[in-house]
Amino acid sequence: MTSESNDENVELVPRSDEIVTMYFREAAEVIGLADSMYEVLETSYRETDVQVPVHCDNGGLRVFRGYRVQHNGARGPYKGGIRYHPAVDISEVRALASLMTWKTALLNLPFGGAKGGVNVDPSELSLRELEALTRRFTQTIGHVLGPYRDIPAPDMNTNSQVMAWLMDAYSARFGYTPSIVTGKPLSMGGAPGREQATGRGVVDVTQRAFERVGRSLDGVRVAIQGFGNVGSWAAREFAARGARIVAVSDVGGGIYNADGIDIDAALAANAVTGSVVGLTEADQLAPGALLVCRCDVLVPAALGEVLNRHNAEDIKAEWIIEAANNPTTPIADKIFNNRGITVVPDVLANGGGVTGSYFEWTQNIQQFTWEEEDFNTRLGKRMRTATDETFDAAAKYGVTPRVAAFAIAIERVATAAKLRGYV
Ligand code: NAD
Repeated sequence: MTSESNDENVELVPRSDEIVTMYFREAAEVIGLADSMYEVLETSYRETDVQVPVHCDNGGLRVFRGYRVQHNGARGPYKGGIRYHPAVDISEVRALASLMTWKTALLNLPFGGAKGGVNVDPSELSLRELEALTRRFTQTIGHVLGPYRDIPAPDMNTNSQVMAWLMDAYSARFGYTPSIVTGKPLSMGGAPGREQATGRGVVDVTQRAFERVGRSLDGVRVAIQGFGNVGSWAAREFAARGARIVAVSDVGGGIYNADGIDIDAALAANAVTGSVVGLTEADQLAPGALLVCRCDVLVPAALGEVLNRHNAEDIKAEWIIEAANNPTTPIADKIFNNRGITVVPDVLANGGGVTGSYFEWTQNIQQFTWEEEDFNTRLGKRMRTATDETFDAAAKYGVTPRVAAFAIAIERVATAAKLRGYV
């Protein structure tokens, strides 16, 4: 365990994997999971921990640590993103891999859960070094990947270009295999709609959750932390469906405008400077201030554990939509529950990404492409179904949507594990 501060009344913040285990156990108890299942479902199937040496432009050598954790494959091939970030460690990757198992099960996709990551700050690398890193990492973990074994995708600081390098490096060794990875460029077998899918899914889920309590998104004030793939597409889609984006932020800081931020202007500023900071038609926000700004819906779409005991009492939103993975610590989760704030959990809220990846993979293995409209319609349907199932289960068991989502997922994975004879 690590602590959030040095004072004596500290919240002991469990490691990321311990947090997921806590949520798992709470839900497992609700459904009366058999004792024999706990060990199989709590631990990873395989953890690959590799050295990734890269020859640098200056002639030197840097050695990074890379991980691929395959948590559970009872329901299908392992599936999960690869992130490049200096905070990546085995505990984080393990936690995210297990979240993928519960996410794919909740969305009823024929996949298991995995995650990968390299402990690197990609902003310190040139494009050539980034390519070299990606190719070396792919070569090193290639033996545990495969279109019916484990299919990576983008995550934080990895994009369609990184996926293209990954596919090329894998194909050089095993033969042309577009279905080895999702989130590819459109010209290489990517699916129209996939890039937008996580952000769009965030909005599909929010809209459905609102409909269930007789509300629409019209005029709803939304604040979004993170303006990368997920945050920026969620912002566009919220705005397109009538919501008002009052605040957005990125690693450089944030902006706030109670009358609504012009998302096109924010995108244009971001394209020029790489940040939303400095947009003139908005007030500038100090780091962290976005999370506690006046809004109805707060969407963390950047890092994990940003909602914690230090700010949970100050959050003003009525709804928290977890677009990022693991953004809420267990104590903050309890505080939100006590305060009547509805937290739509990550496994549901950002499930549009892996659902879109499933659509891309399906098209790749069938060599049959869909129209983007078809992609979006199917995505919306799946996101609405999962939202209904989660909130229905929450009502049935008298638990939070998070515990309900885990309960549904655990039941599905446990059934498959039992049928396959794992337990
Ligand atoms: P990204 O790299 O495209 O964007 C990350 C954004 O977060 C950037 O705007 C960055 O500036 C911002 N950021 C970083 N540190 C910050 C800080 N301290 N304060 C404020 N902003 C900060 O990443 P992404 O793909 O958009 O992923 C964001 C989150 O969504 C991650 O938690 C990821 O695991 C999760 N997620 C992504 C996908 C996907 O399809 N990309 C799917 C499911 C979940």
